[in-house]
Formats: sequence, structure tokens, C-alpha cells
Amino acid sequence: MSNFNVQQILRENIKKLKPYEAVEIPCKIKLDANESPFPVKISQIVDDINIPLNRYPDPEAIELRKQIAKKLKLKYKNILIGNGSDEIIYYLILTFGGPVLYPVPTFAMYGIIAQSVGVNTIESGLDINFDLNENDFLSLIKEKKPSLIFLSSPNNPTGNTFSSDKILKIIDIARKTSSIVVVDEAYQPFCSEKGFLPFLKDFDNLLILRTFSKIGLAGLRIGYLIGNEEILKEVSKVKLPYNVDSLTQFIAAKALNSFYDEIKTFIRDIKREREYLQRELSKIRGIKVFPSEANFILFQVKDSKNIYEKLIKEGILIRNLSSTIKGALRVTVGTKEENKTFIETIRKILENRK
Ligand code: PMP
Repeated sequence: MSNFNVQQILRENIKKLKPYEAVEIPCKIKLDANESPFPVKISQIVDDINIPLNRYPDPEAIELRKQIAKKLKLKYKNILIGNGSDEIIYYLILTFGGPVLYPVPTFAMYGIIAQSVGVNTIESGLDINFDLNENDFLSLIKEKKPSLIFLSSPNNPTGNTFSSDKILKIIDIARKTSSIVVVDEAYQPFCSEKGFLPFLKDFDNLLILRTFSKIGLAGLRIGYLIGNEEILKEVSKVKLPYNVDSLTQFIAAKALNSFYDEIKTFIRDIKREREYLQRELSKIRGIKVFPSEANFILFQVKDSKNIYEKLIKEGILIRNLSSTIKGALRVTVGTKEENKTFIETIRKILENRK
């Protein structure tokens, strides 16, 4: 046996890093990862995949970017494709460094990636309505001059959108400190508001992040960044040349054409089922439900860990967020049957508790 000790060569920031929790607990009903519950087969999107696998994929993913640009009525040079939006967050932090500012609680990867790359993070607590704390946020921008600001709106895990007036003020002030604001619109398709695409023409320090993951195609791993071509060009410098494989590029581009009506139906069904879940959860004594503009619902309950574990025993996996928000659990909107089973099961668990 050698005396090799990995700890001796580990960077300090990685020693302290708490990795993203993507636990796979096998359960009949999986409502933990904000995925779409509707199964999709490749054959529903393409009937013939004629891809030369001996060749590398298009490093610039031009066809897919063109298809996305057509949908958004933008130029393809205003789109950058990533292997999921996670990868784009990584590229952004790698390109611009820190400090990175974001509200808390929010999507954990902003902090995890910043720490992996070794840049400083600044956190600003949300107010009691889970909205941005405007004064605190604006003074942090002026004082710390962050390179990047991440705003997930609708926010994961709270489910609400941030006030658009506050976001606009932030973008405006951030422009003066040369900070880039990334509005992460992973959950925008489920939201009643329009999102920030219309503001791209007004602010050259605004970027928008979107993903295929929440609208039915999480397995493809496609995220995209939208915005100022000059910024995107700099980010492309750190992009691995073949970050998205040929099959994925092909299927994702096709999905925007031949599968788009189905995607719209998924979104409509999820929004309808979200209302059902919200209504039924609020009827259960002992549960506090928060409003949601996303494909998941956050709720609070006493003894959340115990309830989370009992649900697993009944074959239902949701997300335990108690370490982030006291007593909080997050359930992803599932199919009609899954949601019904979830409601019946959690009701039974809570009733038996008394
Ligand atoms: N942003 C937010 C706010 C998210 O919640 C998630 C996924 N949980 C992502 C980005 C990452 O999505 P992707 O699958 O595109 O990497």
C-alpha cells in the first residue's frame, strides 16, 4: 500500500465544498427533481436519426441555435448552448470570476460552482415573502461590485417570481458597476408573467438562462444562454469545444419543430395540476403552502424530516429542504394520478400523526 493521501493535493475550496445533493432513492413516484413527469421516447420526436457518428459534433451547435433563435425572434449569435444550464453557470463563473452575488435561498449550483472555481460569493437573504431585499441587494452591488449576479425567477426552491421592478432596478444599478445580471428562467414556461426577454434590448449587461430540462427533456441536457453577442463570445472561449453531442443537438432542434405542440400540452397540464396540488395541500391541517409560478410547490410542515421519510416508505420521493428553510419540503408537480396519490398519502400520514 502506498501512502498516497489525496487530501494533501486537494485545493482548500474543494475540501470545504458540500456537493450538490442529487440522491437517487428508487421510488415508484418521483417528485423530487422538478422534472416533467410525462415520459418521452426519441421516436416521438424523430423517426430517422441520420447522424455520422464518426464525426465530432458541430462545436457551435449552429442548427440548434438557429431553431431556438427562430422561436425567440432573435439572432442565433445571441444564443449559447450548454450541456444543461448548469454548464453555462459554470462557464459564466469561469469567464468572469467573482464575487458572485445571489439571493438565498436559491438554486444551490450558483454557490457550489463559485466555490469549486474558487471565487467569492455574496449572499443576500430574501424577505418574508421570499422576494428580494431591495436595499440590501442594491447596497451589496454598490459596495462589492460583483462580476455576476444570479436571479432565479421563478426562484427555486421558493417557487415565486421576484418583483420585476426590483429586478429592473438591480440590472440598472449593476450596469453602473459593470456587473452582469443573469436572470435564470428555468421555470419561466410555468409562470404567468412574460419574463425578461423583452428587456434584452434595453440592457447590455442582462443575460437570460433557459433550459429544456423542465419542459420534458431533462435527459437531453440542453440549456441556453441568451443575450449580448459580445459577452457570449467571451464565454464561448471557455466552452469545451464539443460540449453537446450530435444526437442531442439533432433531437433538441427537431423537438422545437415537430414536438412543440406536445411540449405546450405538458406545460398546460402541469399548470393545471399545480392548481390542484396547491388547493388540496392547503386543505390539509398542519401544512402551510407557498404560492408557486413554477412546476413545484414549497410547503412547510412540523416534523418535516419524519414526513419526508414516511413518504419514501410509501414509495413517494419529494425534496427535503429543512436544512435550508425550517420545516420545508418541495414537491414537483407530477401526473394527475401521481399527484392524487401524493395528496392521499400525505393526508393519511398527517392524520395518523395526531
Ligand atoms: N437553474 C435553476 C433555477 C434550476 O432549478 C435548475 C435545475 N434544478 C437549473 C438551472 C439547471 O438546469 P439544467 O438541467 O438545465 O442544468
